[in-house]
Amino acid sequence: MNKKNIFEQIIKGKIKSDIVYQDKIVTAFKDIKPKAPIHILIIPNVLIVSANQINEKNKDILTHVFITAIKIAKKIGIHEKGYRLVLNCNRNGGQEVPYLHLHLLGGKYLGSIL
Ligand code: AMP
Repeated sequence: MNKKNIFEQIIKGKIKSDIVYQDKIVTAFKDIKPKAPIHILIIPNVLIVSANQINEKNKDILTHVFITAIKIAKKIGIHEKGYRLVLNCNRNGGQEVPYLHLHLLGGKYLGSIL
């Protein structure tokens, strides 16, 4: 199974994952190889391959992806100390899975990456 299909199967509940939130538009689940104490991926339920496919037609989906990440951060209680949202795009951006996903990282001091 290719990596894109893995995320599609996670949305459908056909392969095992730790889903923390799901509605008609997005699915959020724990990253299988967490890079921080909190590491959750938020993905649209319809395939958007990368940030390059964000446009006027699907912008509301992306807004919902971001709002969901922030709601999860608040529910977990990491919002006051802070967190990082990461959206990797294509090879140079470090995107391994060709299915747009927003990383929510937190639970420790992450420092600066710039
Ligand atoms: P990226 O490098 O931005 O494409 O990130 C892909 C992320 O997907 C990585 O952090 C992986 O650990 C994560 N990942 C890959 N397969 C799974 C899976 N089956 N369940 C949860 N997370 C996964």
